[in-house]
Amino acid sequence: MVSSKITIQVSCADAGDPYSLRVAQAKNAIRKALTPIAEDEMVAVRDALGRVLAGDCMSSIDVPSHTNSAMDGYAFIGSDLPTEGEREFTVVATAMAGQPTDHVCTSGQCIRIMTGAPMPAGTDSVVMQEQAELMDDDRVRIDSRHRTGQNVRQAGEDIARGACVYRKGRRVTAADLGVLASLGYAEVRVIRRPRVAFFSTGDELRSIGDTLAEGEIYDSNRYSLYAMLTEMGVEIIDMGVVGDDPQALTGAFDRAAAAADLVITSGGVSVGEADYTKAILEQRGEVAFWTIAMKPGRPLTFGHLDGALFFGLPGNPVAVMLTFHQFVRPALRYLAGGDWPQDLIVEARAEKGLKKRAGRFEFVRGILAYDEMGELTVKPAGAQGSGILTSMSRANCFVLLDEACAGVAAGDRVRVQPFSTQL
Ligand code: AMP
Ligand code: MG
Repeated sequence: MVSSKITIQVSCADAGDPYSLRVAQAKNAIRKALTPIAEDEMVAVRDALGRVLAGDCMSSIDVPSHTNSAMDGYAFIGSDLPTEGEREFTVVATAMAGQPTDHVCTSGQCIRIMTGAPMPAGTDSVVMQEQAELMDDDRVRIDSRHRTGQNVRQAGEDIARGACVYRKGRRVTAADLGVLASLGYAEVRVIRRPRVAFFSTGDELRSIGDTLAEGEIYDSNRYSLYAMLTEMGVEIIDMGVVGDDPQALTGAFDRAAAAADLVITSGGVSVGEADYTKAILEQRGEVAFWTIAMKPGRPLTFGHLDGALFFGLPGNPVAVMLTFHQFVRPALRYLAGGDWPQDLIVEARAEKGLKKRAGRFEFVRGILAYDEMGELTVKPAGAQGSGILTSMSRANCFVLLDEACAGVAAGDRVRVQPFSTQL
């Protein structure tokens, strides 16, 4: 008897998947394919937040620029400070921030001083006013607890003139803006922003404002992608929706590649009859890989398109957000001239068991919280289907279940990738 056999292809229904890349391999492949942007531009310091410095930042001044008092109190000559008992001094002048005194302090004298005021000539130590007893208008008494040099900020103790404050490649933070301003920088040279063109694909997609006919849906990926790109601080070229038509798609691919450093599409990367992304990329550019052993987000196309990098994200709204988070975000950071970012991963106790088979990486939308004991715990944020965007809304983290993991029992410790530093 002849037995017939159906050849079954690997799909997202399979746990193990020998033809797909592992998540870590995919990240490596993406990183290797990228060349950070080198072009730079000058921006006002105020606009430099989140930008990457294109050169070292040197200091042309000392910060603080003069030796000054760290307290409101009285400035003394260190050798005058009593080593035992108490001693009385005459207050001979007052020094304020912005209004220094040119009085030269001599033995037995002290000078009333406010925080930030330059240390008067002769003085080198400050006693805070709470530790000095004012006898009358111009007499103070102090005891023996004080040491020479106390409560004084030395010129250049934060930043010395000529020091390199920031190296090329640094991503500017809020504190950096303050430091740059303290050095007198009005402008800084930064790497230009990456330009990112994106569009949604699918005949079923309608724009918000349109009325939906049978079988149609609103294009939500356009908005979540727009939001995530905005958070990344890149230049955005929003190309809207393109239907499942090879000719229209080819045109859109070419226009996007001509305008951008990186092109992102959503939808059309599966093996359905209207999934053209991979074929067009093969024709117009080069496909580097197109499936990853992960859930959600297994079909993901990465490659080159006429000098631009290309990410073909899946169509399902959650898969779009997840793959953006895992692959596009670090790629954009790297492209923007910084390093490949290291995500903050924390450990938390699983409140509930999580079913999983070994073989692929699964990302569970989770809610991370502190319990009454102050311990971090995590639970799923609701149904985990890759089209269920509301559970992504509720989530504040991904629970990371790697390829080797074969399920989690309640109470197990799991690795968690928070979306932000606040819960
Ligand atoms: P596809 O990969 O094109 O087969 O799309 C997979 C699923 O995601 C289908 O149910 C699509 O209708 C849905 N989808 C694709 N693109 C979008 C979009 N831009 N907004 C919302 N849903 C989408
Ligand atoms: Mg589609």
